[in-house]
Amino acid sequence: MSSVPVMFGSMVFDDREMKARLSAKVYNSLKKTIDEGESLDGKVADAVAIAMKDWALEKGATHFTHWFQPLTGVTAEKHDSFISPSPDGGVIMEFSGKELIKGEPDASSFPSGGIRATFEARGYTAWDPTSYAFIKDKTLCIPTAFCSYSGEALDKKTPLLRSMEALNKQALRILKLFGHKDIKYVRTSVGPEQEYFLVDREMYNQRPDLIFTGRTLFGAKPPKGQELDDHYFGVIKPRVQAYMNDLNEELWKLGVLAKTEHNEVAPAQHELAPIYATTNIATDHNQLTMEIMQKVAQKHGLVCLLHEKPFAGVNGSGKHNNWSMATDTGVNLLTPGETPYENAQFLLFLVAVIQAVDEYQTLLRLSVATAGNDHRLGANEAPPAIISMFLGDELSAVLDAIEKDQPYTGTEKTEMKLGVHVLPRFFRDTTDRNRTSPFAFTGNKFEFRSLGSSNSIACANIMLNTAVAESLKQYADELEKAEDFETAVHALVRRVLLDHSRVIFNGNGYDDSWIVEAEKRGLANLKTTPDAMPELLTEKNRTLLMSHGVMSETEINSRYEIMLENYCKTVNIEAMTMVDMARKMILPAVESYTAELSEALQTKKAAVPEAGCGYEKKKIVKLSGLMEAIDGAVDALEAEVLKLKDAADITEAACLIRDAVLPKMAALRLPCDEAETMTAKKAWPYPVYSDLLFGVK
Ligand code: ADP
Ligand code: MG
Repeated sequence: MSSVPVMFGSMVFDDREMKARLSAKVYNSLKKTIDEGESLDGKVADAVAIAMKDWALEKGATHFTHWFQPLTGVTAEKHDSFISPSPDGGVIMEFSGKELIKGEPDASSFPSGGIRATFEARGYTAWDPTSYAFIKDKTLCIPTAFCSYSGEALDKKTPLLRSMEALNKQALRILKLFGHKDIKYVRTSVGPEQEYFLVDREMYNQRPDLIFTGRTLFGAKPPKGQELDDHYFGVIKPRVQAYMNDLNEELWKLGVLAKTEHNEVAPAQHELAPIYATTNIATDHNQLTMEIMQKVAQKHGLVCLLHEKPFAGVNGSGKHNNWSMATDTGVNLLTPGETPYENAQFLLFLVAVIQAVDEYQTLLRLSVATAGNDHRLGANEAPPAIISMFLGDELSAVLDAIEKDQPYTGTEKTEMKLGVHVLPRFFRDTTDRNRTSPFAFTGNKFEFRSLGSSNSIACANIMLNTAVAESLKQYADELEKAEDFETAVHALVRRVLLDHSRVIFNGNGYDDSWIVEAEKRGLANLKTTPDAMPELLTEKNRTLLMSHGVMSETEINSRYEIMLENYCKTVNIEAMTMVDMARKMILPAVESYTAELSEALQTKKAAVPEAGCGYEKKKIVKLSGLMEAIDGAVDALEAEVLKLKDAADITEAACLIRDAVLPKMAALRLPCDEAETMTAKKAWPYPVYSDLLFGVK
């Protein structure tokens, strides 16, 4: 193994390679495109393509692909080899600027939510020079955006880049008002903490539910779960450690800043956190991380489960989206400043986020809505489905004083007039750790905790960036006209706090009383995906996305369709898998075990007529009853699934799933899990929870 600094980024065509391999002119021109979004010159593209190809060939690559993120939620790639026939019958390795800039995969098999019907079937991919190309499996992967021929985005990257641009534009207006003339751009950064489960592959292969749906659809609670809290941050088992070491190396080679690894709350659950990066790159890296996690697991005889709720009764897996805004000059705009004036700027950006989260809480909620995540949100393990914000006691007290126009009596007695009087310095509040808030301020960044483990982080950040851009736009519109800037800033901050403090909640988000309180405050509580998704179509939310150029009307409609389609398909597969497992595995197993008991009973009676047979009889009666119950529940579930065909549209189908299919799935699971607890282990057709959760040593 080479040293980490040598290994790090060795498979990435990063700035080091660009500098070394491109002429100064080409390099500077490319840099301008990357940093300032200037359009790319064709000649520059050709030069970059040649350098990229030479580098890739040296690293053993034979193919290239435009790597993109269609709305399926996973990444897509279509490999082309570099070969081109030469007149002498051989081949030469070629790659042109044209091939680098644009690709034309057949778009017709990717979800388009109706765009395909109205527009052309073909789509194209366009190079995103802001995210470095890399080599994976002997293939040069070029990060790209994916659009229809009419220019509608068919992917997650395009709106994400647009949202970053929207925020950049508005933040620069604000910074200009604070006298910063040297700042060229503002970017958002994200550090996504990724949770996952590891299970033994042999065991996984015996469970159709894990294979088809990524989660267990059946399984009785094991005698030991997570109640002892002995797994969290516990000693990492050797097999898991070997996996983590390998995973880190693979990620480092790809330039992913894998940093922290530890055991999570549930047995067999772990977490990986990278060092934060620009949102666009963090998004690409998180997709790569999820892919590599699964690949490396294969090598270790393991399977990495990224599902939000692989096991009932123990915690599910989420993803924490740590988000901040920073300037190209290195200033984190969410860091409290040293002077009152700096603090006025900090507070303005802070209230911009508060307003954004309050105004567009439904967009944030729906950005994390999936069938898998519905099992977590509001289930006392993840933040509730209600979007609120945690600011910590000190910061809340400061804001409270501003809101009430009262002196702040925290660390020093100070009158709260921004920019005029001395403001207290806020210190990063490390003791104040609220793990139950969906959206927590953690000193110099916000942590959005509602994401599901398998979610792409793109959606959440699209909504967040755009909502904050809107707050900033309103502030810039107002402050640019102000006669006395400082007074105007103060009045604005105060007004925003008065209008939006309902979204701030520092208490326990898992407490039932919060649900009541949140309702009183008028906060939305959208429990499921079919509840949340229609919010995408409201006038207010549409207007936001369209006015900042983040999504067009067509793109919004198509995304709505795709998200719900995804939800319906996911649950449909789960339901059919349950039907299949119940009929082909569970019922036959219980049946033969019951027969075995009956036989044993007969044999015993014949051999020792006076022996008691209460145990066998009781079990036979109980298991026979459960078989009847299972049989009835399977039929009922199947009937419910069949009704989906008659749904008028995807919205109706999703509601049917929520109201009828999911309850019937739960009703089927109950007798099956009970039968499991009454059947001999050797007779059960697949590994049970205790095997899966404690099977990796
Ligand atoms: P914890 O949430 O356990 O306290 P940290 O605060 O160290 O952990 O960070 C968690 C994640 O947040 C990491 O991925 C880290 O890189 C990221 N992070 C730290 N600072 C920022 C920032 N300014 N912007 C975005 N992400 C950040
Ligand atoms: Mg965290």
